[in-house]
Amino acid sequence: MTTTDRPMRVRMAPSPTGPLHIGTARTSLYNYLTARHEGGTYVLRIEDTDTARSTVDFERDIIDNLHWLGISWDEGPQVAGGDDVGAHGPYRQSQRLERYREESARLLESGAAYHCWCTPEELEAVRKEQEARKEAPRYNRRCLNLSDEERAAFAAEGRPSVIRFRVEAEPIRFDDLVRGEVEFDNALLGDFVIVRNDGMPLYHFVVVVDDEAMEITHVIRGEDHLSNTPKHIALIRALGYHEPRFGHIPLILNADRSKMSKRKSQTSMTAYREEGYLPEAMVNFLAFLGWSPGTEEEVFTLDELEDRFELSKVHKGGAIFDRDRLDHLNGVYIRALSDEQLALRLRGWVPDAVRDDDLLHLVPLIKERLVKLGDAPSLIGFVWEPDEVVASWYSPELLHPKKGGPPEARAALEGALRVLGELDDADFSADVLEQRCREAADDLAMKAGDFFTPIRVAITGRTVSPPLFASLEMLGRDRSLARVADAIEKLAEVAA
Ligand code: GLU
Repeated sequence: MTTTDRPMRVRMAPSPTGPLHIGTARTSLYNYLTARHEGGTYVLRIEDTDTARSTVDFERDIIDNLHWLGISWDEGPQVAGGDDVGAHGPYRQSQRLERYREESARLLESGAAYHCWCTPEELEAVRKEQEARKEAPRYNRRCLNLSDEERAAFAAEGRPSVIRFRVEAEPIRFDDLVRGEVEFDNALLGDFVIVRNDGMPLYHFVVVVDDEAMEITHVIRGEDHLSNTPKHIALIRALGYHEPRFGHIPLILNADRSKMSKRKSQTSMTAYREEGYLPEAMVNFLAFLGWSPGTEEEVFTLDELEDRFELSKVHKGGAIFDRDRLDHLNGVYIRALSDEQLALRLRGWVPDAVRDDDLLHLVPLIKERLVKLGDAPSLIGFVWEPDEVVASWYSPELLHPKKGGPPEARAALEGALRVLGELDDADFSADVLEQRCREAADDLAMKAGDFFTPIRVAITGRTVSPPLFASLEMLGRDRSLARVADAIEKLAEVAA
């Protein structure tokens, strides 16, 4: 894929103005995979020129979640607020202001950039006139055409000024690594601001300066940046830089094909992590948001992806974020874990009071049906929650079997009370319990399912639970009896 004669260097350039976004994670993964697949170098650069909104906490959220996914990089900070690693630093834009100043001075010097003193009101008036004439809004170059005297007068007045880049009216063509030939007419762009009045340089400018300084050869980023690329290429030419290859990867869309945005969708990686998605499932899922191996295979570890991923196979069309697919993959990865591994992963969702041994025994109860680690407490919490808490999870009506009302519920619970009471601790095993309960159902001429429902709700607080008899065994004789007795009382309260 490398068509530059320089060694491949790619980068991800997150802005720490929010938590790690799903889209940034996917971009980051594609960069990582490209670098690993091609033997390139991967650089993390923190784009924190928006000092008002950038925080170390967001930097931490981004770095920690990338590491959680298993993504590593060769250069740039490795921990939030930490030191740089690598010879192309500093890797935080807030520490590179001197370089930007030098480069903007060079552009001013060559005439490729100029000061602009127009006030917001003046710019607004121009915009309105253009709108009235049905022209595309763009800067009218008033300040480019000032005389030296006018310029000197504005400067002497101390009027606020910005620096604008003078865009040449020329078509810009590039061969996008994903999209193929792309052409823009820069005549439509207008001269854009590269340095604000307070001296802060802006995105289009700093990204170009940094990519050159960090010897980036391939810029792989979201398609939302496609329209920025002609601006970047124009700047690259004016500054006499190397032009990297560009690859724009498709947007991530909601199921209704609308753009996945912070407002409408869950976009923060931390939120998915907290729900209990496994990082290996998430990586597998992200890889397929815009790429596929061209075969039916769908389960890939990060190592396999490094081997197989190719940017040239990335799709042009938008990638639908399909939560069902993520859930499916998560289940696949959960079931591939050993019971011991799963118990370890569940530790964060289960109270410390539950001993490791006991947790390990609970794992087989849920492994087959667990979608996310975070679902575990609602499935097996009945084991460690006190009786009154479990009782608070259900209303008496939930005790009624599908075919029947309070009398049937009562008959089943009383039957259960008798059966459970007859067994001693040694016999209190799933197999024996099942056999005895089925017999009791027969004696009462009840369907097994109708007999089990009230018991299930009494024991687990829910109508859907792990296998009933294993649940009873796990809870033990005394606690099971107490819960069934509580349920009978609950029924009686309503009847009274
Ligand atoms: N800071 C930009 C972003 O987060 C980086 C864009 C780029 O890769 O050039 O979208």
